[in-house]
Amino acid sequence: MGLFEGKKGLIFGVANKYSIAWGIAQALAAEGAELGFSYAGPALERRVRPLAESLNARYIEPCDVTRDEDIERAFAKAQEVYGTIDFLVHAIAFAKREELDGRFVDTSRDGFHLAMDVSVYSLVALTRAAEPLMPNGGSILTLTYYGSEKVMPHYNVMGVAKAALEASVRYLAADLGPKGIRVNAISAGPIKTLSASGVAGFRRMLHHFSKVAPLRRNVTQEDIGKTALWLLSDWANAVTGEVIYVDAGYNILGLTVPLEELS
Ligand code: NAD
Repeated sequence: MGLFEGKKGLIFGVANKYSIAWGIAQALAAEGAELGFSYAGPALERRVRPLAESLNARYIEPCDVTRDEDIERAFAKAQEVYGTIDFLVHAIAFAKREELDGRFVDTSRDGFHLAMDVSVYSLVALTRAAEPLMPNGGSILTLTYYGSEKVMPHYNVMGVAKAALEASVRYLAADLGPKGIRVNAISAGPIKTLSASGVAGFRRMLHHFSKVAPLRRNVTQEDIGKTALWLLSDWANAVTGEVIYVDAGYNILGLTVPLEELS
């Protein structure tokens, strides 16, 4: 019997088969979870629907997280289909390409608002909407990146958004802890996805990462999926408000130069 047999949850953030959210969905489905999928808008339906249908999803709904009415409708529909849910995955972020190309100091007011709205406020809004569907407690998971803590080239406003996202995880965890709802984040090492392709020099960054990370490799969708399983399951039932690194150990390094270059 799978770890998630009899458990139901929603996945927000699948764009295609390379999405981290899809890796998490596959891991959950393999353990018997019943999954519903929400995607950003009509342009993505073509890619998301077949993936969701391959896991027999009964819930496949659009939701642009910048629109309150979309969120309201998406959760009303989830309540209609499932009644209650056990977990929610938030794997959503966005910044305008021009905000990632130049200097952080040149971030526009609009670009700052948009990145914070889509990448941070959406977690707050989705968590609030999910709360009534989790009367017996639950687990909420979001995705962050080390650029929240240290300066990463071309991450700019997204680094600031991820710092706010991680702080939001702690405040949400404190608010919802008394109801048995846990809120955590996975800080993933770089993975080539649609969003990542907006970060200039990403391919070279992946290469560098695999040369210096303690495990000497890049991380995969499966790696993230396995830790997501743990955080979303009862195995982590006393873990909340945390940021867990799934980054082959990169974040522990003080000097990110391959050892060979020093000898
Ligand atoms: P992805 O492009 O596959 O997923 C990003 C998702 O955000 C897409 O499904 C997109 O449709 C959704 N989205 C954007 N704007 C939206 C909106 N207005 N409404 C609803 N959905 C919207 O890329 P990914 O790398 O799988 O990203 C998932 C999460 O993982 C993001 O939070 C990202 O920052 C984080 N992350 C990614 C990496 C990486 O290297 N890929 C590393 C660490 C953290």
